[in-house]
Amino acid sequence: MQYTSTRDNSIRVSASQAIAQGISEEGGLFVPCSLPSFPLDKIASMAEMDYINRAKTVLKEFLTDFSDEELDYCVCGAYAKEKFSSEKIAPIVNVNNNENILELWHGPTCAFKDMALQLLPYLMTVSAKKTANGKTIVILVATSGDTGKAALEGFKDVENTKILVFYPVDGVSPMQKLQMTTQEGENVAVCAIQGNFDDAQSAVKAIFTNENIKSELAKKNMMFSSANSINWGRLVPQIVYYFSAYCDLIEQKRINCGDKINVVVPTGNFGNILAAYYAKRMGLPIKKLICASNSNNVLTDFINSGEYNKNREFFTTTSPSMDILISSNLERLLYHMSGEDSSLINELMNSLSEQGKYAVSKDLKDKIKAEFCGGFADENGVFATIKEQFERFDYLCDTHTAVAVKVYEDYVKQSGDDIPTVIDSTASPYKFSKSVLSAISDDINIVSDEFKTVDELNSKTGAEVPKPLKALKDKEVRFKDVCSKENMSEMVFKLLNI
Ligand SMILES: *Cc1c(COP(=O)(O)O)cnc(C)c1O
Repeated sequence: MQYTSTRDNSIRVSASQAIAQGISEEGGLFVPCSLPSFPLDKIASMAEMDYINRAKTVLKEFLTDFSDEELDYCVCGAYAKEKFSSEKIAPIVNVNNNENILELWHGPTCAFKDMALQLLPYLMTVSAKKTANGKTIVILVATSGDTGKAALEGFKDVENTKILVFYPVDGVSPMQKLQMTTQEGENVAVCAIQGNFDDAQSAVKAIFTNENIKSELAKKNMMFSSANSINWGRLVPQIVYYFSAYCDLIEQKRINCGDKINVVVPTGNFGNILAAYYAKRMGLPIKKLICASNSNNVLTDFINSGEYNKNREFFTTTSPSMDILISSNLERLLYHMSGEDSSLINELMNSLSEQGKYAVSKDLKDKIKAEFCGGFADENGVFATIKEQFERFDYLCDTHTAVAVKVYEDYVKQSGDDIPTVIDSTASPYKFSKSVLSAISDDINIVSDEFKTVDELNSKTGAEVPKPLKALKDKEVRFKDVCSKENMSEMVFKLLNI
């Protein structure tokens, strides 16, 4: 399988080149030139497999320049049972009627980013051996909270790699911050920036394509790559769990193979929902892709109106991993849906960087609306949903998942479409203990100590506290640097000692 760029569709690279490089030279994103197809009998046969074998079956079609041995090494290493708190890796839980929650947070950092970032370092090191001639790969990450930690954990002490993470100083939860600043490993560094996630992401993208910085790195035999969801190696592992969830619904006899389902995804950078779109294009019977946003509802407006406009108030919400106004992976969707029109993509992305907005044709808008539905939940909706899910169904969900549940409920009310549905749950409630606790109880004195809050949430709900979060209590804070967004490139040199 070959990959091309959303901004220059004459480019052809292999999977390992796309993964090692991260982003195409002219700034476009790598996308597959064609998609494999999974007929129903193939899907039915996957129902009998465990997660590792389902993953191999899907990934094999995309990573065609990996040998069977290499793929085996990568997948078995990433999804080793002892790293996940569920044997199923990504279990699906029926909450009520046709509402099924896909728990994607049983990995080492308790957020869905682990599903991809446990695998990416393996894919990256195998890819680098094939394409990067022994260079040290420098992973540069902008994070809204969860990617940073999951990438640090995935890349820590991985040979021939270094990883630098930038997070918005006031834009992550206390638990997320602690997870990052206490990170262990010899090849890791973490720095806060004065700005929001979009500032961090834009600065990281600019550093990636800065010729001066790249040549300084090359002198030290280093090259940049990306662990953000602009890297194809982040997206492809996410396609797997949509097939896996469908197979589990067959196994649980909630559907027959071939029945259609809806999928609801709490969305920020549009990576997770794009993976569901790819799964649908490959033949997974998905009816609607429901894109759930928080108050930063730029995608809801885009899906409904065809105009993408980031010139709006930015809200810092209780679902910080979705506090994003520039959804990078939307570029990939526009590329596919416009009939692979890379000149249109250049036009739209220029307009986005110069004017902060663009509009698509009615035809393209209608095509998108046929596949997607967009909705959003404000903060009151999130809190009420957490409380209701807990009181009615004894199911405790985090703030991001609550956004999805609320948007799903609104969708069913408006459309009457209540076919079996998979709702992605993207984080453990204990990553956002304070918000979750204040949603379910009326009379608490919220204490400032994060671990007391965790204990209180645990005693009120009985929900198990994930071990990796408990363990943070006794860890030493290693990283205290804060820099301005203008000084990020200097910080990169400092952290790399060059
Ligand atoms: C990253 C993240 C999201 C958003 O996922 P995208 O792929 O960026 O759309 C949602 N919830 C949580 C908890 C996350 O960490």
